[in-house]
Amino acid sequence: MKYETVIGLEVHVELATRTKIFCGCENKFGGEPNTHCCPVCIGMPGVLPVLNEKVVEFAARAGLATNCTIANFSKMDRKGYYYPDLPKAYQISQFDLPLCKDGYIDINVNGREKRIRITRIHMEEDAGKLLHDACAGTAVDYNRCGVPLIEIVTEPDIRSAEEAKVFLETLKSIMQYTGVSDCKMQEGSLRCDVNISVREEGSDQLGTRTEMKNLNSFSAVYRAIEAESERQITLIEEGGTVQQETRRFDDVKGKSYAMRGKEEAHDYRYFPDPDLVPITLSDERIKRIKESLPELPAAKKARYINELGLSDYDAGVLTADKDIALFFDACLEAYNEPKKVCNLIMSDLLRLLKEDGILPENIPIKPEYVADTLKLIDDGKVNITVAKAVFEESFRTGEAPSSIVDRKGLAQISDTDAIRAMMRDIIAKNPGPVADYKGGKGKALTFFVGQVMKLTKGQANPQVVNAIALEELDKA
Ligand code: ADP
Ligand code: MG
Ligand code: ZN
Repeated sequence: MKYETVIGLEVHVELATRTKIFCGCENKFGGEPNTHCCPVCIGMPGVLPVLNEKVVEFAARAGLATNCTIANFSKMDRKGYYYPDLPKAYQISQFDLPLCKDGYIDINVNGREKRIRITRIHMEEDAGKLLHDACAGTAVDYNRCGVPLIEIVTEPDIRSAEEAKVFLETLKSIMQYTGVSDCKMQEGSLRCDVNISVREEGSDQLGTRTEMKNLNSFSAVYRAIEAESERQITLIEEGGTVQQETRRFDDVKGKSYAMRGKEEAHDYRYFPDPDLVPITLSDERIKRIKESLPELPAAKKARYINELGLSDYDAGVLTADKDIALFFDACLEAYNEPKKVCNLIMSDLLRLLKEDGILPENIPIKPEYVADTLKLIDDGKVNITVAKAVFEESFRTGEAPSSIVDRKGLAQISDTDAIRAMMRDIIAKNPGPVADYKGGKGKALTFFVGQVMKLTKGQANPQVVNAIALEELDKA
């Protein structure tokens, strides 16, 4: 029998608001344990939460950027759950009236467009962290308690590990563009639960699903899906049945383990939080938030292709990361030749970032210096090889490319008299290659050009050298 894998994702994204969701504590990753806390976020009795307006705005931005409908009326609910790092013993979340619903994201998997529907996006508070290695027992750090989260839930539209990975990359990029989150997976600001089932190919019934929680890298999601769908298929083939349960994926062993059975909504005893007023957003307000969205990755990519004439591949690479795209846009402000800027970014900048382990958000070179480098080539001051070396030095030192060229005397030699004299000398000293050239060996030309380039340490203008070589060899 042929099987099909069916996947739905629940993605938690921490919002980059300045303060937490229900108090004025700083919303910042890390810090000494229990220093970003107050009575509200550590759940002291009698305190009153107040909803941070920015959280609503950020969540609505995320919803609008993923084509959701934003509710004019929604509310916060209590979800009963005890955890040592959730001191109130309930989490404030949203149950039946989420802020955003019925959206979608279009993804491109190996050249094929596919739409993944978004069921809902709701707001909730994050829990703290348990530190198992900090002391003899287990320590609790409440700094993360009350950090604002959105949970993005997809329909079961994803069919493979590859699609899940592309979906997450696309979602991450959209969230970064809108500025609602930095989506740093290593800091836990984007985390993913994977729901997965298998069924006979062609069936329209959903199989029983399992859920793997809190996977914190895209590659872990990929491997977890591959391993879990294989486990379910083998189980069914051997006559067993899949149990609906939560499983923990051990990325080192590449295997998942059963953790707990299914939880139903009624186990959580959701009810409207009596301390918080409902959230109302007028159409006018929603419209204003929508108008404040920046150009999103898909639109930017289409514009790079249609208006700037870049290839699909180049446009895809440039727009995948917000900081690279913004850098490219800034370069164009200073030097409006998209293809040339694109080539320098794709072949040199991205390589240098990778070699030096620098994130795109920390690009050390100024956009004006990209323009400066390209102008040096245009003006015939340096050839491409020298330009690339100068760009690299500028990237590492911060010195302007034109200043490097002046300081090191790298300006290209276009003095035809000097080049001609060198060429004549080389021709006189190399009768063998001259004979080769006269005998029709085109390759011999390269020898003469190469000799002049060597004498000038690569600084001669290759076009000029080439032209002079042809003239002088004809006379020889
Ligand atoms: P819960 O809140 O209990 O986790 P939901 O119904 O909200 O349950 O579903 C959570 C996620 O599971 C959604 O992303 C949904 O698309 C996905 N899902 C639901 N049923 C299946 C299934 N049979 N196979 C794979 N994914 C599923
Ligand atoms: Mg779930
Ligand atoms: Zn607080």
